[in-house]
Amino acid sequence: MNILVINCGSSSLKYQLIDSVTEEVVAKGLCERIGSAGACITHTPAGGEKLTREIPMPDHDAAVSAVIDCLTDEETGVIHSLGEIGAVGHRIVHGGERFASAVLLDEEVIAAVEAVSALAPLHNPANLTGIRACRKLMPEVPMAGVFDTAFHQTMPPKAYLYALPLEYYRDYQLRRYGFHGTSHDYVSARAAQLLGRKREDLRIIVCHLGNGASVSAVDHGRSIDTSMGLTPLEGLMMGTRSGDLDPAIITFLMDRLDCSAGEVLSILNHKSGVLGLSGGISNDFRDLTKAAAAGDENAETALEAYALRVGKYIGAYAAEMGGVDVIAFTAGVGENDGPMRARISEYTRFLGTSIDPERNKLRGEEVILSSPEDAVATMVVPTNEELAIARQTLAIVEAGAQGKL
Ligand code: AMP
Repeated sequence: MNILVINCGSSSLKYQLIDSVTEEVVAKGLCERIGSAGACITHTPAGGEKLTREIPMPDHDAAVSAVIDCLTDEETGVIHSLGEIGAVGHRIVHGGERFASAVLLDEEVIAAVEAVSALAPLHNPANLTGIRACRKLMPEVPMAGVFDTAFHQTMPPKAYLYALPLEYYRDYQLRRYGFHGTSHDYVSARAAQLLGRKREDLRIIVCHLGNGASVSAVDHGRSIDTSMGLTPLEGLMMGTRSGDLDPAIITFLMDRLDCSAGEVLSILNHKSGVLGLSGGISNDFRDLTKAAAAGDENAETALEAYALRVGKYIGAYAAEMGGVDVIAFTAGVGENDGPMRARISEYTRFLGTSIDPERNKLRGEEVILSSPEDAVATMVVPTNEELAIARQTLAIVEAGAQGKL
């Protein structure tokens, strides 16, 4: 069966068509600037040339139509008709406390996703727009929602509660949820598989280090803690996000800069992290590594501070799990930035980690960096959230067809 995986943002829509049998990507692409002038779609069929078309896309309905046109186009298409799409899997950022796994989307579920939108006002409404557009244009095709928060719903209250008056949790569901769950789930499962072990027998720390970054503690198959919180701002320092800080900084900056809380939050989300700490050099680790090599002290401090924070989380999660068997790096930085992995491992050596300098030069590949006699397996496992969404969609659609839901 072909499964169309959709990741819809407010003005963009990423898609992949995946063959559920071979798990190969049949085609993938991206619609950009939806709702603005100059909207365009980039479409790449497997083994074919990437093509870019400027198409007016006033809304997400038009974007989904453009995707279907590209997929079924006589010349560049990969399928003949919509009938060859067996299911659609939608990435949904926030599932609140209701969704601890993927679900078949119907009106009742969509209303429930809408109800948790207050917890992710930038993301869930955009995800819902994509869902509605697909349902309108493909009413017969079963659809599943796969939530970024779902994998972390196994966290215990001691990990997910903030030290705030308890009524805020009861009244507003104010708690830590965690994100990147599909990636933490996929990478921890794949890491165990690569080691020839069962995930249920291992204590795994996954470091998802991309533009957004989070660490998780996957204890015998269950996420018991993760670094992001109510929103994806908590935890690690990221490309442009501050991560953990003293909350009193917010009112301090409101006072000094004479600005609103919203403006300070925007600084914490968009102007902070390694971008801010490097004095504005870049949020891209390639630029920072170059600048640090050329002697820029701010770039060097930003990189070292980033590594320190990842190291601290690894230490904390090892303490929570009573030890660690596997540390897995993933996402843009985790998969590609060997020097950053080496910096981080300086902070984890006390746990019994080592990394091979030659293997650490590899980029974007599944590789075990440690040696067999090490107490901890350190590895790189490229994430594949689209494949994970396709797998979960297939499972939920097949279960639905057999009346098991
Ligand atoms: P992601 O959000 O997972 O796509 O990660 C994007 C980030 O990965 C970029 O902003 C870069 O900082 C980082 N990145 C990608 N490729 C490399 C590379 N070859 N070396 C270092 N960092 C990289």
